Amino acid sequence: TDAGPLLSVRGLHSHYGAVSALRDVDIEVRAGELVALVGANGAGKTTLLNTLSGVQPASAGSIHFDGVDISRLKAQKRVASGIAQVPEGRQIFGPMSVADNLALGAYTRGTGAAVDKDIAWVYELFPMLAEKRRQVAGMLSGGQQQMLAIGRALMARPRLLLLDEPSMGLAPLLIAEIFEIIRKLNADGITILLVEQNASAALAIADHGFVLETGEIKLTGTGKTLIDHPDVKRAYLGMA
Ligand code: ATP
Repeated sequence: TDAGPLLSVRGLHSHYGAVSALRDVDIEVRAGELVALVGANGAGKTTLLNTLSGVQPASAGSIHFDGVDISRLKAQKRVASGIAQVPEGRQIFGPMSVADNLALGAYTRGTGAAVDKDIAWVYELFPMLAEKRRQVAGMLSGGQQQMLAIGRALMARPRLLLLDEPSMGLAPLLIAEIFEIIRKLNADGITILLVEQNASAALAIADHGFVLETGEIKLTGTGKTLIDHPDVKRAYLGMA
C-alpha cells in the first residue's frame, strides 16, 4: 500500500527579518529513503533543516510529517513526534560527560528501561563512545564529537534524522567512517535527510537529492542522476 511520503514540504518560505532565505520550497522524503540536500554556502540548507525541526519559523507553506501538519508545532513536540536534528557544528555540551550528553538526547522521553536500552544501542553503534562514556565531551576529537552528536539525536528514537554537514572539518578517513555510519543507520530503517557541502559523497549514497540555490530548489532527481547532471558537475563537483 502507498502510505504517502513521510515528510512533505509544500511552498515553504522562511525569512530573517527582511532577508528571504527560502522561497517556495517543495520537497518530499519517503519512509526509508536517504535524501541529500546539496548547495553552495548560504543557499539555505541549514535554514531548511531548522524550519523542519522547528528551530526557525516558516513564514509560509506547510510541513507534513507522517500525514500530520506539524508546521505550527514547537521544536520539542516535533522531536517527540519523531524528527531529530544533528545541528551544524555538532553543539554537544562540552563540560558534560559523554553519557550525560546521550541522556539529554532522550529528554522528551524521560528515563527508564527503554532509554537505557537505547543508550546500549548507541554504544554498540559507536564503541568509542562506550569507552569514553565518563569523559567530558569537550575532550573528544572532532570526529568523536560528530559521532556523539549523532548518538544524542538517536536517543530520541527518530523516524526522520536531519543531519547538517556531518563531514564538516573532518579528515578524509573520518568522513568515510561517518558516511558509512549514515548508510548503516539508513539500512537499519531510519529515514535520513542529509545536508552536505560534500555533494559527491552525499549524492553517491543518496536515493534522491535536491539542489538548493539561493533559497530555491533548482534540481531534483535520483542521487545518480544528479551526480551525472552537467550543472551539478560544474557547480558542485568541481568538474568542467
Ligand atoms: P552554510 O553551508 O554556509 O551553512 P546554508 O546553505 O546552510 O549555508 P543558511 O545558513 O541556511 O545557508 O543561510 C541562508 C541565507 O540566510 C544566507 O544568505 C545567510 O546569510 C542568511 N542567514 C542565515 N542565518 C541568518 C541569520 N541568523 N540572520 C540573518 N541572515 C541569516
